[in-house]
Amino acid sequence: DQPPRLHRNFVYINDGDGVASSPIRVMQWNILAQALGVGADNFVRCPLEALSWSRRKNLILEEILAYRPHILCLQEVDHYYDTFQPVLANLGYSSHFCPKPWSPCLDVEGNSGPDGCALFFDESRFELLDSASIRLSAMMIPTNQVAVVTTLRCRSTGKYVCVAATHLKARSGWEWLRSAQGSDLLWHLQNLVQELVGGDSNVQVPLLICGDFNAVPSEEVYRRFATSPLGLDSAYKKLSQDGASEPEYTTWKIRGTGECCSTLDYIWYTKGTLRVDAVLDMPDEEQIGPNRLPSYSYPSDHLSLVCDFSFREKE
Ligand code: NDP
Ligand code: CA
Repeated sequence: DQPPRLHRNFVYINDGDGVASSPIRVMQWNILAQALGVGADNFVRCPLEALSWSRRKNLILEEILAYRPHILCLQEVDHYYDTFQPVLANLGYSSHFCPKPWSPCLDVEGNSGPDGCALFFDESRFELLDSASIRLSAMMIPTNQVAVVTTLRCRSTGKYVCVAATHLKARSGWEWLRSAQGSDLLWHLQNLVQELVGGDSNVQVPLLICGDFNAVPSEEVYRRFATSPLGLDSAYKKLSQDGASEPEYTTWKIRGTGECCSTLDYIWYTKGTLRVDAVLDMPDEEQIGPNRLPSYSYPSDHLSLVCDFSFREKE
């Protein structure tokens, strides 16, 4: 009785820069906290049964296993210790989790703890150098949003890559807070990179920043990332014809307050050191269906973003 998973294809990007030998696959996904899905979101067109944890857990794990990313960044994780950490550890992933200080999950009856950001990496591909949990600040004041920042070394090439997973403040009216949180994260990353290169400005550290930014591309926080001195670009732009526009949506849901179809999730990468080899396309409107997301065929209101990257060779 279970409908098939949404079928999506990889779009291969030809930047005329040689063939990818063994790309690094990265997945970004807000998986929808179980407590929020049943207790706060009010997805009026999604049957309660489709929101049951037993069903959603299987669909979330199937989605991850279908793509087998080397690096996996998740938001709204409220089943880390009982599900994702142990299951993915068995599949060879090492991980770090940072709960939100005042998770809204805790207000939901029967919750399973706070939600937060989790960052997983394939231990056969990468060696852990360091990982930190960061509580994002806005004008020196700590906020309720966090990031996990992990520095890895690729076992085959010996190259470093620094990865961040984050989930910025939601809802309209908070654009200024998202912008401040984004600036704080950029500041942390800049410091980390400085530390890694030890002041040698000729060395560039590849960075990947995955998140639910809760911001459309016209927002200030998006502009701050796009114009940062770190030299970042957003990978999903590669899906568009001109390579310059974001997809039409990364989340599509119907709440009691109405329909919401927008682009809020991103994979940022340093364009001087990393190359996008492939991008997983977005399902179309017909595949998503008239009741939108989540549904019996897809467990979250946010779509997963999956990209293959390789290190750019120095000229
Ligand atoms: P956010 O506004 O960032 O949103 C939290 C979650 O709500 C997100 O996961 C978001 O999902 C989801 N969400 C967004 N829009 C809606 C909507 N229209 N309906 C339902 N859910 C939505 O929350 P904060 O982190 O700022 O935390 C807010 C809550 O945290 C408060 O309600 C309070 O319960 C608690 N809190 C308690 C404090 C205390 O002192 N006790 C202090 C601070 C917070 P998505 O990202 O997918 O859009
Ligand atoms: Ca949500």
